[in-house]
Amino acid sequence: MNASPDCIFCKIVAGQIPSRKVYEDDDIYAFHDISPWAPVHFLVIPKLHIPSMAQVAAEHERLLGRMMTLAPQLALEQGCNPYPAGGFRIIANTGDEGGQEVHHLHLHVIGGPRPWARG
Ligand code: AMP
Ligand code: ZN
Repeated sequence: MNASPDCIFCKIVAGQIPSRKVYEDDDIYAFHDISPWAPVHFLVIPKLHIPSMAQVAAEHERLLGRMMTLAPQLALEQGCNPYPAGGFRIIANTGDEGGQEVHHLHLHVIGGPRPWARG
């Protein structure tokens, strides 16, 4: 699954649409959600165009593992308070019934002091 021409997150990875970067390496990009639910709300995405969690396969285990281990580290760096009094929420909306709007796999990392705007 290479870059998908009509995919907004592929365009963000390519720098064709601006974003506020949180983190980047060869395989992963993280950026602030444009419509945040909470004081901290960023998205962690693979640079590879995988449409959703429904397409994840054994070949993606390292990539997904890296995304999941990065998320808590970035959450603290971005202002989430430490566990257990603090914490954060990780969400991967999948498919229409899962509430997915952008069909490029992404983890929402949401946290920070309450109240939140949503969730
Ligand atoms: P989902 O409903 O899980 O597919 O979430 C897609 C998320 O992408 C939403 O929270 C949007 O606010 C966010 N989003 C859409 N376009 C952009 C963009 N250009 N920059 C940052 N976040 C975006
Ligand atoms: Zn994409």
